[in-house]
Amino acid sequence: MDWYRRNARDLPWRRSHDPYRIWLSEIMLQQTRVDTVRPYYRRFLRAFPTVRRLAGADEHQVLKLWEGLGYYSRARNLLKTARLIVSHHRGRFPESVEELRNLPGVGRYTAGAIASIAYGVSAPILDGNVKRVLARLYCIPENLDTAEIQKRLWIMAEELTPDRHAGDFNQAMMELGAMVCIPKEPRCEVCPVRRFCAAHRNGCQNKLPMPRARKELPHYQIVAALIGRGGKYLIGRRRPEGLLGGLWELPGGKMEAGETPEQAVRREIREELDVSVRPGRHLATVQHAYSHFRITMQVYECRLRQGQPRPLYHTDLRWVTQSDQSHYAFPAATLKAFQKIFHATSSRSRRVRWTGA
Ligand code: SF4
Repeated sequence: MDWYRRNARDLPWRRSHDPYRIWLSEIMLQQTRVDTVRPYYRRFLRAFPTVRRLAGADEHQVLKLWEGLGYYSRARNLLKTARLIVSHHRGRFPESVEELRNLPGVGRYTAGAIASIAYGVSAPILDGNVKRVLARLYCIPENLDTAEIQKRLWIMAEELTPDRHAGDFNQAMMELGAMVCIPKEPRCEVCPVRRFCAAHRNGCQNKLPMPRARKELPHYQIVAALIGRGGKYLIGRRRPEGLLGGLWELPGGKMEAGETPEQAVRREIREELDVSVRPGRHLATVQHAYSHFRITMQVYECRLRQGQPRPLYHTDLRWVTQSDQSHYAFPAATLKAFQKIFHATSSRSRRVRWTGA
């Protein structure tokens, strides 16, 4: 903790013990890097400085502020939780880990972080950084992802957590993992816990934790349609449940085996919108990696041939202009496509301007 007090990075969420701010930062930091989170955190707090302000927000606004941060169920859970805090807890976050864990999107780690940092409760935490530090301190040469090892790690974390200043202790452990006991080439020479460290003593710090078996991510071919009408184009809102729920996108979907992209566009649009389209120019190719799969998305300019689009797959459809885009939240892959279609300016890149026909 002495080391932490001298070396802690000055992160915006560390300047406060407000449980709302701590909760927000912890949710944003799940699976996301500190530098990515900073500007989102600032913008979010500017829009919703208190849990009551967030509870009164529209899901649209919340998703827009979350746009590009990924794992959008976090944003939807954030809103649900804020409303629950206001309706069931009179606007105040509960203090106990058990009650915190009943909130949507709050697991044992996040509950421990809020309880210890905001309220000083002696509750352990276990994130990727802390797991790595423990695996080295105690020289655990096993796969850290098994249920049995997870259980052991939680017990270790619990035993180490002090009765007082647990919030500082937990943050110190995370900071140690983020800045000193880093994944590759840990900086043992400046480590404040070097003399307690079994991995350092045995010289095996570079071999721990045991590397995860790498799984090849599935790769999907996706087609999407930019259907134009009178200078506007059509977007659909994804259903709330599931991946990217509540976000807006260009209609389209996965190609099936044996289909050409044009055939896939025609089929997808018929299935999703109940209309027939004629695919024209190829406008963009986008590569994007999600946590469990990768996609290559091909976007085609399309003309409506027959029918009025109906939302058979989406919850809502809108005709929008390019300048309306800023009012809607889109997944990162769609934003990349828009960038190529509407803003391709480099002299070397093939300039594809959508004419709005
Ligand atoms: Fe990590 Fe090295 Fe410190 Fe051990 S001594 S905790 S391996 S940085």
